[in-house]
Amino acid sequence: MLELLFLLLPVAAASGWLVARKGLARRAAAGGEPDPAYFRGLNYLLNEQPDKAIDAFCRLIEVNSETVETHLALGNLFRRRGEVDRAIRVHQNLVARGNLSAEQRGYALLELGEDYLRAGLFDRAENLFRELVELGLHQRRALIGLREIFEQEKEWEECLHVARELSSLTGEVMGPEIAHYHCELAEEARRKGDAEAAWSHLREAQMTDEHCVRASLLEGQIEMERGDLPAAAKCLRKAERQDPAYLSEIFPVLLLIYRRLGDREAMIDELMKLYRRREDPLVMQAVAELIREDQGPAAAATFVAEHLKHHPDLAGMERLLSLGVELSADEGVWCNRLDLLLQATRQLLEKRPAYQCHHCGFAARRLHWQCPSCKHWGSVKQVPSNGSVNWGSSSNRAG
Ligand SMILES: [Zn+2]
Repeated sequence: MLELLFLLLPVAAASGWLVARKGLARRAAAGGEPDPAYFRGLNYLLNEQPDKAIDAFCRLIEVNSETVETHLALGNLFRRRGEVDRAIRVHQNLVARGNLSAEQRGYALLELGEDYLRAGLFDRAENLFRELVELGLHQRRALIGLREIFEQEKEWEECLHVARELSSLTGEVMGPEIAHYHCELAEEARRKGDAEAAWSHLREAQMTDEHCVRASLLEGQIEMERGDLPAAAKCLRKAERQDPAYLSEIFPVLLLIYRRLGDREAMIDELMKLYRRREDPLVMQAVAELIREDQGPAAAATFVAEHLKHHPDLAGMERLLSLGVELSADEGVWCNRLDLLLQATRQLLEKRPAYQCHHCGFAARRLHWQCPSCKHWGSVKQVPSNGSVNWGSSSNRAG
């Protein structure tokens, strides 16, 4: 029977049973026989009877506190398999024991907190994580758990406190995250009409992270609402210098401001400068439209063709085809064929994700300041203009 167990152990170890084996090995080294209840529990588990296995292991711990590691491994195995209720039963059973050392109890509380977090029982998870922070046990993981709870509950002030605690505890640079929390608070204040509070949070965001595009964008929007268009344009130009990977958010607003300002010559001058600096398809499209309005479709087509020579992208093809349809309006068959190509190109453009997370590869059609997949802040950015998408992992989907 013992041989059979050790034959089976490598299989089990692969799913989190390594710790159990360590415990058994220690007992064997000490000359003790593993408790028969172990075999029963393991058998139930291997026979896909997890609830009976839990009962067997829970009875076992009353006899022997050396099996704590095994219970922790078992609970983690259940949680990883998405069986959170079972993980909670195992970890609750551990926490209820009075014979655990402080270290063992700390581990059990942490794991139970993670179970509650996964199950969406935020109040319970928060209490456990706070207890751990107060006890000085597993503080980093407990603070990360607390931050996740407050982010999901959109408790941004709490997020700020936790991020600062984490930063002072671990020395981790949390500037970008803290800046995003301030931006969230600024958006809340803006929605409530409290402009002063909004400005104060945006200043804090910029001071914490000088590259915070989101704060510059928000400043620009508030300036627009106040009717100060030159000040708004200044904020957006700053955002563009901070990170051109957000140009698809910045540029449409900037274009709107230039059009509202009504100085066409200045607008063309600004757009041409921006185009030479970034050669981005969005800016190319706007410049092409201005050329079309002023000089007609043939001049615009020449400009777009020049862009395509250096930057073969779908947006450039779409614009050139669109101008081609306009130019060949009198040549029935060719016009129809070009129009067919134009529609096909537009469909390809629509299918393409506009944004992608640089951290996990998550693809999205709209901007998320926090990646919905890996929860990183500021990692979802515009897909490069040539449309190449780096699919980071197979689980990515458009969101
Ligand atoms: Zn991500």
